[in-house]
Amino acid sequence: MSDFRAILTRYWGYSEFRPLQEEIIESVAKGNDTLGLMPTGGGKSITFQVYSLSKPGLCLVITPLISLMKDQVENLNKKGIKALAIHSGLSQQEIKITLDKACWGDYKFLYLSPERVSTERFRNHLPQMDINLITVDEAHCISQWGYDFRPSYRRITELRELLPNVPVLALTATATREVEKDIQKQLNFKKENVLRKSFFRENLIYIVREREDKLQYLLQSVQRAKGTGIIYVRSRKLTKEISEYLRRNQITSDYYHAGLSSMVRERKQDDWKSGKTRVIVATNAFGMGIDKANVRFVIHFGPADSPEAYFQEAGRAGRDGKRAYAVLIYGKSDILALKKNVTKSFPEVDVIKRVYQAICNTFQLAVGYGKNQTKDFKLGEFASKYSMQIQQVYNSIKILQREGYLELTEEADNPARVNFIVNRDELYKFQVANSSFDGFTKLLLRSYSGLFTDYVPINEEVLAKRANLSVAVVYRFLNHLNAHKVIHYIPRKTTPYIYFPKERVDISRLKITKENYGDRRREYQKRIDAMIYYSTQKLKCHSQVLLEYFGETESTRCGKCDVCRERNELDLSQLEFDRIAEDIKSSLTEACTFEELLMKLKGNETQKIKVIRWLMDNGKIVHRIDYKLEWRKKEATN
Ligand code: ADP
Ligand code: MG
Repeated sequence: MSDFRAILTRYWGYSEFRPLQEEIIESVAKGNDTLGLMPTGGGKSITFQVYSLSKPGLCLVITPLISLMKDQVENLNKKGIKALAIHSGLSQQEIKITLDKACWGDYKFLYLSPERVSTERFRNHLPQMDINLITVDEAHCISQWGYDFRPSYRRITELRELLPNVPVLALTATATREVEKDIQKQLNFKKENVLRKSFFRENLIYIVREREDKLQYLLQSVQRAKGTGIIYVRSRKLTKEISEYLRRNQITSDYYHAGLSSMVRERKQDDWKSGKTRVIVATNAFGMGIDKANVRFVIHFGPADSPEAYFQEAGRAGRDGKRAYAVLIYGKSDILALKKNVTKSFPEVDVIKRVYQAICNTFQLAVGYGKNQTKDFKLGEFASKYSMQIQQVYNSIKILQREGYLELTEEADNPARVNFIVNRDELYKFQVANSSFDGFTKLLLRSYSGLFTDYVPINEEVLAKRANLSVAVVYRFLNHLNAHKVIHYIPRKTTPYIYFPKERVDISRLKITKENYGDRRREYQKRIDAMIYYSTQKLKCHSQVLLEYFGETESTRCGKCDVCRERNELDLSQLEFDRIAEDIKSSLTEACTFEELLMKLKGNETQKIKVIRWLMDNGKIVHRIDYKLEWRKKEATN
């Protein structure tokens, strides 16, 4: 057994690597910079984890998702593997303690959010760390061509200069060929090196339905389906409405979106994971880092706004390898809305500038200041304070983010923490002098250990129950002890924040460059077009359409999606066939989209589609890159 395999079995209890895992580990072990592409749920984390355990030293892991970071650290710790995390939700004191541990504590993993990489404190500690690998998770975030660019990711390059002999492992689940190239360039790969697994999902059956009675069809689908599922909808409001509709029809369901408190979300998630809730109706906030293998269906109630997002979300079905369905239901209005999205997502430059000014003013940042700062930011409150539309503010922030001026980060849910800053003797003196605190202090010490050496997560509600007090009184005790400098108390915090990668610039120098703005807009348009194509086309295997988008041009038909299944015999007389084919040929004197073609043709729709398909299969009609159909001028080119 290889060393790597032995580690896999010892810590995870798995007997075999999944495809590509071992190749990635071996590539990194040879010291090669590596880009690993595996679908969501493919098992990317194991690659750097097994590698680091096989070597002395510490593995840096850069990831933008704080909740994922915490999950992974917790899971590693449970296995007895020493891991740490640093993100902007921690106090300066905690960050210092964590960095000291990373230097001297014999740890194997240090998770970092990207904006931490460029802080001075981290830089100062770096030389003391024995780093064996830089892992960049969600590596597509480094590319402006990707669908989720984060300027802070660009700073990772600086790490490469500081650690010239440490290999880098970039991991992602979604990247077009263009983005793959860009990731390697941005991370200064010494040599191009991509390890990729086909995105083909054998057990996933893609189905697309255009329906005007979407809701009715949704209900039928859920009634017919077996097992647990996810329904993705486009708005928070719809999550609740549809969930209630399903409930009225005897389907146990619940709803989920980012506007709910983290406690509520956690409960809903757990109920769904355990099977208590069969169907969860959610916005795209649901799913990141959720690891449930037996999801039998993912239904999109209206298309996602990019094939990348669609593929990730739909891909949450059937991770156990058993048959599962990825269904997209849409109506004409969804397609129109998607087309409008482009204009909505790119507010006028004046609006963007106004948003930038207002954000900087809110935090009282003067021009020339603010670099590397993070600030709590509540989008809703902000928008209403400045009387702007939430959507407009959000989309402006996204553009400012692409331009590198600021970055909005997901909500960080940080539990309350307590650390005693007095020693035991001093505490004793305090208790004697303040007898009213005596009971509470003892309760705190009885309930948690390690309070004198480190920040320990506490739960105010649990304390309240134990002491038979109200939570408000517990808060008061904690705040008093904090004010008396007996403890350092950091209350629970669940707010998103904004990070400033650079200092505030004067508005006259804020550049929303024409090229950038235009390019990004075109990129976005391309993704929308591709999504509309996926939704509306009826000619090509759905799996193939997606794979082609991600650059896999050699794939074969899946044989299971709705297009493949309808593709049986022609069932037409020669006369009928010839008539339709002739009609198609004359309609295609000018290239047009599939929908346009269908409109031009007379006769029965199913028959028309069948003939078009046959002509495509047999090379008479070809697809151009702009998704238009063209009659092939074979004689002329031969
Ligand atoms: P990704 O980051 O690629 O989306 P994860 O690293 O979160 O995926 O892994 C998904 C799940 O697959 C985890 O539960 C993990 O434990 C499991 N897994 C990974 N590798 C293996 C393996 N070789 N055998 C069995 N399960 C595995
Ligand atoms: Mg992952």
